[in-house]
Amino acid sequence: IHGNATCVMNYDGATGYMVGEENKGLRAMFIMMNAARLGVGLQGLAQGEIAYQNAVVYAGDRRQGRALTGAQDPEEKADTLFVHPDVRRMLMDGKAFTESMRGLVLWGALQVDLADKAETEEERRLANDLVSLLTPVIKGYGTAKGYDICTESQQVYGGHGYIREWGMEQFVRDARIAMIYEGTNGIQAMDLVGRKLGQNGGRAIQAFFKVVADEIAEAKGHEKLAGFAEALEKANGELQKSTLWFMQHGMTNPNNAGAGAYHYMHLMGIVSLGLMWLRMSKAAQAALEAGTDNPKYYEAKLVTAQYFAERFLPDTASLRRKIEGGSDAIMALDPEMFAVA
Ligand SMILES: Cc1cc2nc3c(=O)[nH]c(=O)nc-3n(C[C@H](O)[C@H](O)[C@H](O)COP(=O)(O)OP(=O)(O)OC[C@H]3O[C@@H](n4cnc5c(N)ncnc54)[C@H](O)[C@@H]3O)c2cc1C
Repeated sequence: IHGNATCVMNYDGATGYMVGEENKGLRAMFIMMNAARLGVGLQGLAQGEIAYQNAVVYAGDRRQGRALTGAQDPEEKADTLFVHPDVRRMLMDGKAFTESMRGLVLWGALQVDLADKAETEEERRLANDLVSLLTPVIKGYGTAKGYDICTESQQVYGGHGYIREWGMEQFVRDARIAMIYEGTNGIQAMDLVGRKLGQNGGRAIQAFFKVVADEIAEAKGHEKLAGFAEALEKANGELQKSTLWFMQHGMTNPNNAGAGAYHYMHLMGIVSLGLMWLRMSKAAQAALEAGTDNPKYYEAKLVTAQYFAERFLPDTASLRRKIEGGSDAIMALDPEMFAVA
C-alpha cells in the first residue's frame, strides 16, 4: 500500500496476555473495529475523491476528438475530453458519489457523537442504532464504490491512466485494499444482513426507514424537490421489499440471506446517498430562493442530484431482483463443476 509498511507477522510460540474479561474479547475488539470500519469507509471516499479530482484536471487539459454536435474549439486541433458524453458519464459518477459520500461519512460521525452526547436516552439510542446499522454500509459500499470511481477516473486518462507516470494506477491499487481489510466487504454485508437487520427486533432498520420516509414526506411538498423525493421513495421501497424478502426467506434458508447480502448492502448504500442528495438539494434550493452570490455552486448540486436520480437510484430495482433470485443457482453446483467449462 502506498505510504503504508505492511508485513506478515507470525506469532508462533509467542505469549498471549488477557485483555479485559474472559469470553468478552470479541466484544472488546469490536469497539476498535467499528471505529476502524468507519475510517476505512472514509478511505474509500478519499481515494475516489483524489482520483476524481485528478481526472477533472486531465479532462480539461487533454484534447482528443471532436464534440458529437460539432467542433467546440475549431481553432484548436481537437476539443477537450469534456465534450464527450461518455467521459462526462465517468466524471459525473465521481461527482455524484464523492459529494454525497462525504455527506454520509459526516452524518455517520455526527451519529457517533450523538450516541454519546445527545441529551436524552432515546436520542442516544437512536443515534447508536443508526450508526451501528450504517457502519458496514459506509465501509462496504463506500470502499466498493470508491474503487469503482478510481477505475473510472483512471479510464478518463485513457492509456495514460494505466502507466505509472500519472499516478492513477497507484490510486486504483490503494483503493483495492480498502475492500479487503477490516473485514472483507462480503463480511460487512453478512454483518449487515445477518446481525444488524434483526437486532432488537429490527429496531435500527425501522428507524432508518423512518428517517428516509420523513425526509421524503417533507420534500414532496416542495415543487422543485418532489421529483427527486418520489424517485428516492421508489428506491426506499425496493429496500423495504428486499428486507421483507429476507425476513420471509432468509430464516428458512440462511443461504438466501448470504446470497443476497452483498446486493442488499449496495442497495442500502444507494438509498443512503439518496438521502444525502435530498438533504443537499433542500439546502441548495433554499440558498437559491434566499438569494446567493454563488448560484452556480448550488445549481450544480441540483444537477448532480438529478444525475444521481437518473443513474444511481434505478440500480436499486435490479439489486432487489438479484436478491429475490435467492440461492438455488448459487449453491447448486458441486465444487468440481467450477473447473469444468
Ligand atoms: C495489506 C493488508 C494489511 C492488513 N492489515 C491488518 C492489520 O493491521 N491488522 C490485522 O489484524 N489484520 C490486517 N489485515 C488482515 C485483513 O483484515 C484480512 O486479510 C481480511 O479481514 C480478510 O481475512 P482473511 O485474509 O483471513 O480472508 P478469509 O477469511 O480467508 O476470506 C477469504 C474469502 O472468503 C470470504 N469469506 C470468509 N468467511 C466468510 C463467511 N463466513 N461468509 C462469507 N464469506 C466469507 C471472504 O469475504 C473472502 O472473500 C491486513 C491485510 C492486508 C492484505
